[in-house]
Amino acid sequence: MSSIIQLLPDHVANQIAAGEVVQRPASVVKELLENAVDAKATDIKLIIKDAGKSLVQVIDNGLGMSVTDSRLCFERHATSKIRQAEDLFSLHTKGFRGEALASIAAIAHVEMKTKQDQEELGIHIIIEGSKFVSQEPAVLPKGTSFAVKNLFFNIPARRNFLKSETVEQRHIVDEFQRVAMAHPNIHFTMYHNGSEMFNLPISNFRQRIVNIFSGKTNEKLVPVKEDTEIVNLQGFIGKPEFSKKNRGEQFFFVNNRFIKSGYLHHAVMAAYEGLLKDGAQPSYFLYLDVPPHTIDINIHPTKTEIKFDDEHALYAILRSAIKHSLGQFNVAPVLDFDRDPNLDTPYQYQNKDAEYPTIQVDRSYNPFSEDKQPSKSFASSSNYKKTEAQPSWESLYVGLKQAGQEIAEMTFENNEAVTSSLFEENEIEQEVKRTYQIHKKYIVSPIKSGMVIINQKRAHERVLYEEFLTSMTVKQASSQQLLFPLQLFYSSDEVELLAELKTSLENTGFVFEAIEEDNVLISGLPVNVTESEISIVLEELLSDLQDGIPDNSFSQNDTIAKSMARSLAIKTGTYLTEKEQENLVHNLFACKEPNVSPFQKPTFITMSVEDLDKKFSL
Ligand code: ADP
Ligand code: MG
Repeated sequence: MSSIIQLLPDHVANQIAAGEVVQRPASVVKELLENAVDAKATDIKLIIKDAGKSLVQVIDNGLGMSVTDSRLCFERHATSKIRQAEDLFSLHTKGFRGEALASIAAIAHVEMKTKQDQEELGIHIIIEGSKFVSQEPAVLPKGTSFAVKNLFFNIPARRNFLKSETVEQRHIVDEFQRVAMAHPNIHFTMYHNGSEMFNLPISNFRQRIVNIFSGKTNEKLVPVKEDTEIVNLQGFIGKPEFSKKNRGEQFFFVNNRFIKSGYLHHAVMAAYEGLLKDGAQPSYFLYLDVPPHTIDINIHPTKTEIKFDDEHALYAILRSAIKHSLGQFNVAPVLDFDRDPNLDTPYQYQNKDAEYPTIQVDRSYNPFSEDKQPSKSFASSSNYKKTEAQPSWESLYVGLKQAGQEIAEMTFENNEAVTSSLFEENEIEQEVKRTYQIHKKYIVSPIKSGMVIINQKRAHERVLYEEFLTSMTVKQASSQQLLFPLQLFYSSDEVELLAELKTSLENTGFVFEAIEEDNVLISGLPVNVTESEISIVLEELLSDLQDGIPDNSFSQNDTIAKSMARSLAIKTGTYLTEKEQENLVHNLFACKEPNVSPFQKPTFITMSVEDLDKKFSL
C-alpha cells in the first residue's frame, strides 16, 4: 500500500489552530489585550467597529518589539514568555503558548505597528491570511498597535456563524471588563463605532469595579480580605439585598487572570447560605493570589478553567472569609424577601383607567411644635395608620382574636352557603359563579361536564402574555404616568440593551424620559406594573436577554412579553379573593390559547363527572 500521510502546509495548519484560539471577535480582543498587559503597558486602548467584525484594534504604550521579533511573533509557537518547560510553573504572564498572533494572522487582515522605547524608528507590517504583504520602517510612538480587520475573511462559514452584533458586542465587553477589572493599575479605554464606551483611569480594585458597573455599585460592596500561606484573598462581595437574578456580576481572578470555577462559586454560595432568596445571585469580585506553581492553567488555550493543588483548603478559606465579612459588615442574618402580596395582584388595575397618584398633605402639621406626631386629622385619614390605634401588644392579640373570629364566622357562613347551594336547583348559575382557591395554587371551578382545575400562576402568565403581545403589536398600550420619574442604574451594556428595546418596551406602556450612560429615567409604566415591581421586571428581562436580542421584531416582542408575563404573574402562594379568582378564570378563557402557558405548560386540567365516578367506584 502506498503511503498517504502528508504534512499540512503551514497556512492550513495555522487556520486549523486558529479555530481553537479565535472563535469570535471577542477572542481577538482577549488575546490582544492580554499581550498589551504582558508588554507592561500602562495605557491600553481598544477600538471596535461593527462589534469587531470589521475592526478590532488594540493600541498600547508597552515595550514594543524589535524588527526581528515583529516578524517572528506571527510564527506559531513563537513566544518571549517561556524558554523551558519549567517556566510553565512560574508564569506571571497571560500568554505563553505563542499561538495567538499566528492564529489571528491566518484568518484576518492584520496591520501591526510597533516601536521599542530606545529605537528611533519603529516598524509597520501588513499580513493577510498568514502572508506578509509589506514591512516598512515608520515613525511611531513607543508601544504596539494591532489592527485586525475582516476577521474570518477566508473562512466564510465561520463569518456567517457569528451571532448578531449585540451578542458579539456583549462578548467583547465581557472580555474587556474582565481584563480591565484585573488590572486597575492600567488606564483602559474602549471605543465602539467611534464613541467612547469606557474610560477607566488608573485606580484601585474598588474604584475600577465602580467605574465599570456604575456609581451605584459602591454602596453594594463589602470588602473581603484574608492572607494565608496558600492564598492571599482580597476583593468585594455584594450585600445580599442587592443580589441579582443572573450571574452577570460574579468574578474570580487568580493571579490577575479571570477564571471560572464552579467549585469556588459553590464556596461563595455556601457563605451566603440563608441570606439569599431561591435562585438569587450575589455579586462578587474576588482576587486570589496563589503561588504560580500551585496552579495549572495549561488546560486549553481559550478555556477559563483552572486547576488548583489544594482546592479543599481554598474552598474553606473562601467560605469563611466571606462569612466573616458578611457578619462584620452587619449584613442582617435573615432578610425578608417576601413581597407585599398586594403587589402580586395586578387585577386591581384591570379594566381601570390609569390613575394619577395623589399626595396627602397635612396642612395643620407643625414640625416645630413639641409634639412631633402628625396631627389627628391627618392620622385619621385612610392612608395613615397610626400606631396609636394599637397602643400595646395586648391589643394586637385582641385584633388577632377578632380577626380569627371573623374568619371562623365567615367559614361558617360559607359552609352554609356551600351546603345549601349544593342542593340548589339552578345549577347553571351556580357553576358560573363558584370558584375555590386550593393551597393558594389552584383554582377549582365546576363546569358542565365536571370540574376544571386551573394553575393560577400559569393561567395568569398566559393572560398577561397575550395582553402584552396585543399592546405591542397593536401599539396602543395605556400607561400610568409617574409623578416622580424613577431612576434606575445599570451597567453600560445593560443600558445599551434597554436602549435597543426602547420601542418595544414603550409599546407595552413604558415611558422612558432618558436613557443615559449608566441609568434610565422612567416616567410611565404599563398599567399592570406597579412602581415597586419595575426594577425586578427589567432585571429579569435583561437576564432573559443575556444571550442577545432576537433579530426580528416578532421574536423580540415575544421574548419581552414572555419575560414580563413571568415576572408579573401572581405567584403560587398568593391568596386570591373570589373576585380575583373569577377574573382570572374569565380572562384565561378569553385568551387565544388558554390551555398552555407562554412556556407551553398546561394551564388547567379538567375532570369529568365520569372520572370522579370512577375514582369513587374503586
Ligand atoms: P504569547 O502571548 O502566548 O507569547 P502571542 O502569539 O500572543 O503569544 O504573542 C507572541 C509574542 O509576540 C509574545 O510572546 C510577545 O513577545 C510578542 N508580542 C505580542 N503582542 C505584543 C505587544 N502588544 N507588545 C509587545 N510584544 C508583543
Ligand atoms: Mg498572547
